[in-house]
Amino acid sequence: MARDHANESAPRPNLKDHGREALREHFARDGLPAYRADQVLSWLYGRGVDDIEAMTDLPAQLRDRLAGTWDTRALEIGEVQVSLDGTRKIVLRTRDGEVIESVLIPEERRNTLCVSTQIGCPLACSFCATGKMGMVRNLTVAEIVDQLMRAREVLPEGDLISNIVFMGMGEPLLNLAAVKEAIRIFTDPRYLAMAPRRITVSTSGVVPQIRPLLEIGPINLAVSLHATTDEVRDELVPLNKRFPLDILLGALRDEELISRKRPVFFEYTLMAGTNDSLEDARRLPRLLEGIPGKVNLIPMNPHPDASYQPPSSEVCDAFAAEVHASGLRVTLRRNRGRDIDAACGQLAARGQTRRSAPATDSQD
Ligand code: SAH
Ligand code: SF4
Repeated sequence: MARDHANESAPRPNLKDHGREALREHFARDGLPAYRADQVLSWLYGRGVDDIEAMTDLPAQLRDRLAGTWDTRALEIGEVQVSLDGTRKIVLRTRDGEVIESVLIPEERRNTLCVSTQIGCPLACSFCATGKMGMVRNLTVAEIVDQLMRAREVLPEGDLISNIVFMGMGEPLLNLAAVKEAIRIFTDPRYLAMAPRRITVSTSGVVPQIRPLLEIGPINLAVSLHATTDEVRDELVPLNKRFPLDILLGALRDEELISRKRPVFFEYTLMAGTNDSLEDARRLPRLLEGIPGKVNLIPMNPHPDASYQPPSSEVCDAFAAEVHASGLRVTLRRNRGRDIDAACGQLAARGQTRRSAPATDSQD
């Protein structure tokens, strides 16, 4: 019907674009009392109910009115791929037919969800599959929040997401307003009630946005370093030409919101012959002096769009040992989900199609 098409082309505002304060303000402008916003939010997040008509403690007339004005779902599950190690890549479809990916990493005592913040990424890091896609658009708040809501549906009943890492597709600090509102929704004690310290935001070094991010509360900051010289970092992370190492590390050194209790997680992707020498391993602790931090070493996850390869496990171990010897805290991360292209930097919505595909999660 023509009317349906008109509706599709003019999307309605989404309730999940707003945290509690913002939704209360919206409702107030529509002459609705604040507690109605609270009721709606508790259906959406407390009970995971998206169907406004099913919100039975709202008067029928109000339900009709809200259902005529607002959308509640921003994403639908396209496909769930399960890795041999249990990692699940959730392929999600936006209302405008784009495809994004989230990665769910079940571990013994926690379930971590890796969320995307942009479709593609404008920063074009030379080793990253997302960077090779170019920039399509920022995700909306509802699209960020719905990644969590859809992932909860993939988990066995009763299981919760305990940790969120903003390490999927895109650069979170280039979509900061949406990322902050999503964090407000995740951490609102009335609804999803996630502890801020279970949330980590990773940036490739958008220096002016670091302080505004940290002001939201005691979340964790991860910084993608990947090199110990500007020459190499310019090649790997082109943003380094705008914010070179001394500017980036100087800003972190001066940042009062970073402390031993709230250290920076430095991500360092090891690439054979590029940044994996013992000289690099010795330079790294000197470079980070004065910044409370930990180093996470990640062997490069290879993919067809870049020629970088991971070093041998002996080289990775030797690099980690050298950094460790300096007294800096360091971990060498296992690769999860590599077999389904769900590991760090492999997300590129490869093979994306715009028709809907059935869920293929074999483990129900
Ligand atoms: N844009 C943000 C967050 C997303 S990327 C950032 O760059 O920090 C999450 C992490 O994966 C970053 O540290 C990124 O540099 C790293 N990464 C990207 N491609 C990778 C690859 N192919 N192998 C291993 N790590 C990769
Ligand atoms: Fe963007 Fe991060 Fe990939 Fe760089 S590593 S292109 S900043 S998503």
